[in-house]
Amino acid sequence: MTNRLFDLSGRTALITGSTRGLGNAIARGLGDAGARLILNGRSADAVATAAAALREDGHTAFEAAFDVTSEAEVVRTFERFDAEGLEIDILVNNAGIQHRQPMVDLALADWQRVIDTNLTSAFLLGREAARRMIPRGHGKIVNIGSLTSELARATVIPYTVAKGGVKMLTKGMAAEWAKSGIQANAIGPGYMLTDMNEALINNPQFDAWVKGRTPAERWGRPEELVGAAVFLSSAASDYVNGQMIYVDGGMLSVL
Ligand code: NDP
Repeated sequence: MTNRLFDLSGRTALITGSTRGLGNAIARGLGDAGARLILNGRSADAVATAAAALREDGHTAFEAAFDVTSEAEVVRTFERFDAEGLEIDILVNNAGIQHRQPMVDLALADWQRVIDTNLTSAFLLGREAARRMIPRGHGKIVNIGSLTSELARATVIPYTVAKGGVKMLTKGMAAEWAKSGIQANAIGPGYMLTDMNEALINNPQFDAWVKGRTPAERWGRPEELVGAAVFLSSAASDYVNGQMIYVDGGMLSVL
């Protein structure tokens, strides 16, 4: 029997960056727990393909292709949801990009693009979602951080700065909105098998480093984030706020 605490029936979840990778696995997991899904990415074709695959498996999946870094597109999308009667109960701020370059060579435009996609997007979407959740008195926001919310790493400085910011943004959201029945928490994945890491996965030295550095001695699978995502989206976490759950095979716990 399903534990009702984790039941997301009747809830609508918007998951940014859900055409592939971690966002797609989280969307599927929230759908399996009963949620209606709204899929997102910049490519309308990719969103349509991902939504069709989920519908084929019995999920209710709507499509919302937009760029999470564009204030105008984010605002317009939420206005469209209002007009269509789509109320967002769960927002998963997952869309993100990586850019590897030593800081001395880094262009301001690349710094800005990484900060905007990984951090400012969570502000823009969180603000629009909370403006609607506050009057309704409930809502769940799940921000996707990273191991780099805690630890710096050379050549990915804007990414680590953005993910550190995601951690504090999450706490700030909890501080402002807890009294309105909203919980904002974050998930910090370790090294996961997704397109974002393709070059690293195929690099034998990096692959060996990940396996050696992770107590689990392997990369994480996208579906391994689902438990944390369902917990933080459900009534099971109603008194959990401003927290970060690391799903990293133990990596952060060891030297
Ligand atoms: P992927 O590159 O596999 O997928 C990224 C998703 O985000 C795609 O759906 C992509 O679609 C979408 N996206 C990117 N930019 C935008 C944008 N501006 N607007 C809307 N959608 C966008 O990444 P992962 O699944 O690996 O990563 C997902 C999240 O998890 C990211 O925030 C990442 O930083 C974080 N993370 C990942 C880890 C890992 O090891 N993979 C570890 C720790 C954190 P499209 O390009 O078509 O727009």
